[in-house]
Amino acid sequence: MKILDILDDVFPIASAIKNAYISFAEMTCSAVAVVTDQFRDGERVVGFGFHSNGRYDQQGILRSRMIKRLNQAGAHGFLNAGGTNVDPFKAWQAMMANEKPGGHGERSVAVGTLDMAMWDLAAKLEGKPLYRLLAEQHRGGISDDSVYVYAAGGYYYPEKGIEGLTEEMQGYLDLGYDTIKIKIGGATLSGDCRRIEAVLALLDSGQKLAVDANGRFDLSMALEYAQALNQYDLKWFEEPGDPLDFELLAEVAAVSRNPLATGENLFSMQDGRNLIRYGGLRADRDILQIDPALSYGLVEYLRVLKMLTDSGWSYRSCIPHGGHQFSLHLAAGLGLGGNESYPGLFFPFGGFADDALIKKGRIELADVPGVGIEQKKELMKLYRRMLTDNGW
Ligand code: MG
Repeated sequence: MKILDILDDVFPIASAIKNAYISFAEMTCSAVAVVTDQFRDGERVVGFGFHSNGRYDQQGILRSRMIKRLNQAGAHGFLNAGGTNVDPFKAWQAMMANEKPGGHGERSVAVGTLDMAMWDLAAKLEGKPLYRLLAEQHRGGISDDSVYVYAAGGYYYPEKGIEGLTEEMQGYLDLGYDTIKIKIGGATLSGDCRRIEAVLALLDSGQKLAVDANGRFDLSMALEYAQALNQYDLKWFEEPGDPLDFELLAEVAAVSRNPLATGENLFSMQDGRNLIRYGGLRADRDILQIDPALSYGLVEYLRVLKMLTDSGWSYRSCIPHGGHQFSLHLAAGLGLGGNESYPGLFFPFGGFADDALIKKGRIELADVPGVGIEQKKELMKLYRRMLTDNGW
């Protein structure tokens, strides 16, 4: 087996939305393709990768360091012992050559993007969906039949009032989601309570609302919100303060009756370990949202999971941020607690298979080799164009 080329390109995933901290009007995404000399059913086998929303494209780091190092290692530098498939762990080592520890910055996003392509490729060459490959490698072949997903939205759309918010949320419930999430922290506390109460009024028993402050609050505001939110029965209160302020989080955890959720802006096992050590989180209810596609990929995420197990946490406490096919496969294959979903946003990278249906807040995965990017027609058009433009 030979790797013939590693391509990258940049695409817009702009959305006219705002959370309490940023606008997504200029958001971009890097996509990569690892081209091989192998064919399955008459089609060339190519591994595809991209990263989650919320961080911009990584073209600089990809070209000047990560893809360059993979090319320098040569295909044999990251193939398995038999030379029949890629070894994502070896690819990871090659990419991280001469990188100092700590100060993770956004190189974790660039590595995560290529790591996704390596796993997509590894599963395709085995002729299996990634979730099945992972279940065989880590759970004695047992995978989850379906994955819990929740609909994240409720952004502060310019010009959208409470009526627009409830209309959007009702739309997610009608799609089959049982948990929906809205943003808070972009209005006053009383304004946010009105938003929350309007959405809670839509819910039947068994349906839940989560709220997300996107790291907006200082300590006193975070505590004020936590106490005000205690009057509601929420699925969780997400990212009350700066993602790296573990002491703030511990103080919020001490007063919050609602579960807390955080981790989407922690990009390494070491950061995750500090969160578990110092964030005051409660293993019996709180949720960890580290997003593998932003955080050095699955190779690093397996280290995160080991750290959690060693610290007395369950894999089921993990519900990754991002709403993409890659984390969905990790959830089904490794037995995570679920996955985020952004219905209709971050097109065409975000979301699941075009024909996937949400039933009672859960989604089933199809029996298609790899990560299932081929099940997303518009995303595949973009990758096909990228291959054609480069002579493949
Ligand atoms: Mg969030």
